[in-house]
Amino acid sequence: MKVVTGIDEVRSAVKAARAAGKLVGLVPTMGKLHEGHYSLIDAARRDCGWVAASIFVNPTQFGPGEDFETYPRSPEQDEAGCRRRGVDLLFVPSVETMYPRPGLTVVSSPTLSDRLCGRSRPGHFDGVCTVVAKLFNIFQPDRAYFGAKDFQQSVVVRRMAGDLDFPVEVVVCPTVREADGLAMSSRNAYLSPAQRAQASALSEALALAERMIRSSHPAAREVADAVRRHLASQAPDGIVDYVEVADPVGLTNVRSTDRPVLVALAVRFAGARLIDNRLVD
Ligand code: AMP
Repeated sequence: MKVVTGIDEVRSAVKAARAAGKLVGLVPTMGKLHEGHYSLIDAARRDCGWVAASIFVNPTQFGPGEDFETYPRSPEQDEAGCRRRGVDLLFVPSVETMYPRPGLTVVSSPTLSDRLCGRSRPGHFDGVCTVVAKLFNIFQPDRAYFGAKDFQQSVVVRRMAGDLDFPVEVVVCPTVREADGLAMSSRNAYLSPAQRAQASALSEALALAERMIRSSHPAAREVADAVRRHLASQAPDGIVDYVEVADPVGLTNVRSTDRPVLVALAVRFAGARLIDNRLVD
């Protein structure tokens, strides 16, 4: 595995891979890698002859007062993990490499970005779209791998890639979970033991929502209320940011659950904002 920090080094490595007739896969991450990230790398390895991963904690997707400075970082373990999982090229750029001058150009996909997480994280998806567009331009991958855990991100990125004619296939892989159902996340490291014990309530609440929908297709509001009640009783230290039952394509709220719906939620514990979702189709 090659580890590089410069854009030119990426371009020449990609050129060589292409010259050898390889399909190029890209897995963009912010590091502190866990099995969720590695599942994307495994998927890329299955599909592509040459796999790159990037680790970049992107400042432009963090709002004021968010955790950019303290975001967990573990460069040595991440590098060793990528090596073990068969990554061909690991790109670890500095902030100066990605943003050598104040960026005057922003890639924005406002309609999809303003919903769900976008309401409490204004500007977040502009940061995501901009850095992903940059990575797509740097690597020009055939396929790029994202996790369903960040469902809205996958919808926004896929739409951005389509609207701007990036010749890339956006592949979305299933959420990888801990034994008790908690979606793996670098931010789980922030949780105290007591908060960690309560955090399994997020996936339980989503399982409850799915059972309700499958058994009787209740009104979306009833489903959201039941999810909130479960969170209030089982995760009393968490403050619910949102619970929404939405159309999985446009991410708008729905009233009925007799067609495929996305149940999505965000809960704030002191120090950690956790998200999870479930697609019920
Ligand atoms: P992050 O490092 O948090 O920006 O995540 C990088 C990529 O890994 C994103 O596409 C995430 O959706 C994906 N990812 C994060 N956690 C999980 C998980 N538990 N299961 C599957 N994919 C994940």
